Amino acid sequence: MFPKAFPLPYFLPQEKTLLMTYPINWQLGELGPQPGEAAFDQWLQEIRTNLQAFETGVADLSGHLSSSSGKEISPDELADLVEQFGRVSGEWSQVVSLVGCYASQESSNETYRLAEGAVAAIYPMLTKANHAMDRLLKEIDDDRWKTLTTAPSLQAVLPFLERRRQQASLRLPDHLADFASELNVDGIQAWSRLYDELSGSVRIEIMERGERVEKSPGQIAFDSPDRSDRENKFYSSQRAWGSIAEPCAATLNHLVGARLTLDRYAKRESYLTVPFSQNRVTGGSIAAMWEAISNCKAELVKYLRAKQQLLGLESICWYDLDAPLASQSPIINFQTACETILDTFAAFHPPLQEFAEHALSSGWIEAEDRPGKRQGGFCTDFPPSKQTRIFMTYRGTEDGLSTLAHELGHAYHAWVLRNEPLVMQSYPMTLAETASTFAETVVAEQRIGKCTDQKNRLSALDRQLQDSVSFLMNIHCRYLFDNQVHTRRAKGELSASELNRLMVEAQKEAYAGALDESGWNPTFWISKLHFYMSDEPFYNFPYTFGYLLSQRLYLEARNDPDRFPARYDQFLKATTGISAITAGKESFGFDLESVSFWNEALQPIRERIESFLAISSELDCD
Ligand SMILES: [Zn+2]
Repeated sequence: MFPKAFPLPYFLPQEKTLLMTYPINWQLGELGPQPGEAAFDQWLQEIRTNLQAFETGVADLSGHLSSSSGKEISPDELADLVEQFGRVSGEWSQVVSLVGCYASQESSNETYRLAEGAVAAIYPMLTKANHAMDRLLKEIDDDRWKTLTTAPSLQAVLPFLERRRQQASLRLPDHLADFASELNVDGIQAWSRLYDELSGSVRIEIMERGERVEKSPGQIAFDSPDRSDRENKFYSSQRAWGSIAEPCAATLNHLVGARLTLDRYAKRESYLTVPFSQNRVTGGSIAAMWEAISNCKAELVKYLRAKQQLLGLESICWYDLDAPLASQSPIINFQTACETILDTFAAFHPPLQEFAEHALSSGWIEAEDRPGKRQGGFCTDFPPSKQTRIFMTYRGTEDGLSTLAHELGHAYHAWVLRNEPLVMQSYPMTLAETASTFAETVVAEQRIGKCTDQKNRLSALDRQLQDSVSFLMNIHCRYLFDNQVHTRRAKGELSASELNRLMVEAQKEAYAGALDESGWNPTFWISKLHFYMSDEPFYNFPYTFGYLLSQRLYLEARNDPDRFPARYDQFLKATTGISAITAGKESFGFDLESVSFWNEALQPIRERIESFLAISSELDCD
């Protein structure tokens, strides 16, 4: 085991305030027992008992209410129930998050994997508790509902109740709901877990200092300045992912197939009904968003062409998209990254800086670069403990710095809501990604502002525009692909080679044909975890939605810096309301269903493209 890169300065206590260093490993101990300990099993048992008690309690109450007594539910009874529901579901979230953290830090650990299974097996009980709650809400007649909604004891949780009553209409009929959720453990959720195992076993063979070495996918990046290095890594990755194409095709077919069956029995309008409802958006807002984006594609292609020229390439491939413009980007150590982020946050919103300082110094972040960790990064909440944890692999790059800022943006969101009732701490992914990309944008803009050298400025703009290409082109291709897979799967199963073909087709449309004919990524559907998530279908458009909304917020912060911080926190609180559309309207007066709103949101990106083109032609003349 290598020594930790940035140990705490225990040996220099007198200089601690001067040399404040931030741990690169997280602390999980205070969040609950570790999987494998007897106390962990006991904890799971308690959660099961509490969920069972909740469900029985609701059933008793329902029975009592529907009896001939003519008794109706009182505001206090309902408030009690909501409080209890928040507690039991909060406990469940806590254990899921914790097990996820352990499993991510050591992907091959058998005990953690078994714990994930044990936790997943409790999920149907939570679903049953949810169903019981929804059934009760659905049974309350409209007159009684009106009276209840004016009761003072329910005001703090009213948006939760309203939303749940609305969503109850999308659920499966009562006699099927519990059955389906129990079957999901060995269905949708099992497929998703199988994918985790398959992808966790993938090793990519590359050459390093003349030796063949095996890397986990999370350790492979396409940001080398050397094209042949990028190309080699790309083809090695294609081979590695291709080796699990067949089982992944089966997994995807069954995941989507199971979902379509559930949609049919629940009589939902389309396969997009659930993702739109989960993300609290309307089909109109998503259509308006893609329309505005499509109108902006020609400008994005201009950027890609300019970049291609700067790289001295005849055409551009998938593996060139993240290529750096500067031949050597300086290594930013973890400590410097933390300080840079803190300085930026302080300038724009002091409470955000105070929070980030607290998170960084309290061991809330796992960032070490070592083998055996799961790929990607995430921020996960522990509402009962009022804490969060961030998982990532920090490699000293600008990307790593951005990811850290991004995840801290998420964590701040949860922090602002930590004292709200537990049921009022949930927000859709669309708005979660707004908070995170906003933090990321502020840090990036600050760094560009500090560039005095035009070449550095160009590189910094390039990194931001790489993100724009990801959100507006890459995510678009995932959305198009997902739509195709759902539409075609309804008619029959798809083969691995068909999935490859659909993926390339989606990429050609989303990237407006900008890449070389041989430069597409056919196995992207295998390597992208997001297609295999059990509870979040269409884990793509919310990213773009959040990103563009954050760009619109950035315009607001730039134009009205004095009023912005308070309004931003108000917006974060509004994200737990009835919909993303209303959150935007109430805090800032945005109309998220209009193409013109999304056009405005694209403005900062258009400005960056213009600056990029201007500087690159200037440097060309030098
Ligand atoms: Zn995020």
